[in-house]
Amino acid sequence: MTSDCVFCAQYSLSTKLKEKLRLTIDIPLELVSKPNPKRDKKTFKCDRSDITGQFFKQVSALRNSGGGALFVHIGGLDYADRNLHYFHELFDKPLNDLVDEGDLFIDTFTFLWLKDLETVENKSHEFLIIVVRASSRLSTPDYKTKVSTDHEITQPSGRTLCELLLKTRDIAKEDTVHEIDALPAEGRSVQFKYVKSEFEKIHASNIDDFVTYMWVSLRLREYITALSKNLNGGSYFVGIEETDNKFSNYVSKTFQRKGIQILPECKPLIQRELDAKITNCIKVYPDKGTPLIKCNFHNLQDENVYVIEVAVRPISGCVFYDRDGPEAYELKNKSVERISFPVWLTKCTNVQ
Ligand SMILES: [Zn+2]
Repeated sequence: MTSDCVFCAQYSLSTKLKEKLRLTIDIPLELVSKPNPKRDKKTFKCDRSDITGQFFKQVSALRNSGGGALFVHIGGLDYADRNLHYFHELFDKPLNDLVDEGDLFIDTFTFLWLKDLETVENKSHEFLIIVVRASSRLSTPDYKTKVSTDHEITQPSGRTLCELLLKTRDIAKEDTVHEIDALPAEGRSVQFKYVKSEFEKIHASNIDDFVTYMWVSLRLREYITALSKNLNGGSYFVGIEETDNKFSNYVSKTFQRKGIQILPECKPLIQRELDAKITNCIKVYPDKGTPLIKCNFHNLQDENVYVIEVAVRPISGCVFYDRDGPEAYELKNKSVERISFPVWLTKCTNVQ
């Protein structure tokens, strides 16, 4: 059982369902009765990330433990409402990402109403049951690593990731460091970022916040995993702004070096903070102990104004932005537990 809710505890014992493994989750009505927060950011108060994270954790655990049923309790749902439009809008695409290659969503997940299975006293109409079929491979909600196109970084397929982990790639030996007098083109091996106004000047008291801002909000951790997959590595620049580039018939985009002000004593501290992030938050497999990044501070004409380059070395294998590697779950003694990296690796590579 995964909830303290008495109704979840009671109704998940339903005898009309053959699935033996059962988990429960309480989902606030406002999560599934309003449009996606991307379209309704201001009025939406519920923290979706926590609940949706919990949801996919449980689905993954059921998929990796032989299949079962997830009892979804939507408190306050009207008895007559059978239209879960916003529920499906929120969950179906990521659920589809959990479908094994070669399988169909419609064969993997079955949606039932508890009230159609059995009539129990009040509240049963608030329960949706998702029957989750076992995964024949390994159901991983988040691989914690990215791959590049020239436009963006995305999650790889499970098969691609396993191929990367199994083979040795002929990577460059030399450091990848760029000159920025003429900016290289943004794409698979180069990424440009600019900062919000509070980080246009870096001093001793805002370094921690600045590095965390780069790491999380500007997605440095994710770009490191993507750039390390290039045979020559790549570079992530901070202090370069995107602007319009007007041609006679249309407006395109270009980039200009704007830089950020960094006091001299702060430069080694930025490198040190980034090294700490790498040590604490990044997993390299196989880990050969090679330093993954190097910081270069490109001085612009103004004193103490720099473009920061985080040069990422290529890695044969894979870099994950989580010390524990990909995030997948299984059920152990009725509790949902994260699958350890060695077990994940064995399972993932064995099914190839
Ligand atoms: Zn409940």
